[in-house]
Amino acid sequence: MGSGTVTDLKTLLYDCDKCVAYCCSIYDRVQVTPRDIRRLAAHFRVLPEVAAKRFTKLFGKERILRRKHDRLFGQACMFLDQGTRKCTIYHARPAVCREFPITERCAYYDLIEFEREQQNDPDVIPLVKITFKDGNGQ
Ligand code: SF4
Ligand code: SF4
Repeated sequence: MGSGTVTDLKTLLYDCDKCVAYCCSIYDRVQVTPRDIRRLAAHFRVLPEVAAKRFTKLFGKERILRRKHDRLFGQACMFLDQGTRKCTIYHARPAVCREFPITERCAYYDLIEFEREQQNDPDVIPLVKITFKDGNGQ
């Protein structure tokens, strides 16, 4: 999700290029709107109905992105490149992905930076899991 890069550092206090994309992995539900589906459809040059079926699914009344197996977190967004940990549809990603993390800080980036400093290991990856009381993810 995150869009923070080195060039954003004047305003953003996180750097997605140094992260493993927690935001694209640990949330079970990445919501998509009809507009997001039209954007996906245009990106893949398919009809919106096809994009909705191929890339999204219903969770109750909510439409969310499909997920796939992920080597780090078990599951991740189907559009996450597991090698680079980057979004493969960056310019066509849903609105919620564009907005995350809303503020100039990203708690997950703070965590990875903190742990790498503590361990004196620039490659260490703290694993994070979010659990909700109702057990429904996100
Ligand atoms: S669409 Fe891209 S930015 Fe959004 S969760 Fe998936 S991989 Fe991350
Ligand atoms: S978790 Fe934060 S720092 Fe990591 S990719 Fe997402 S927005 Fe960027």
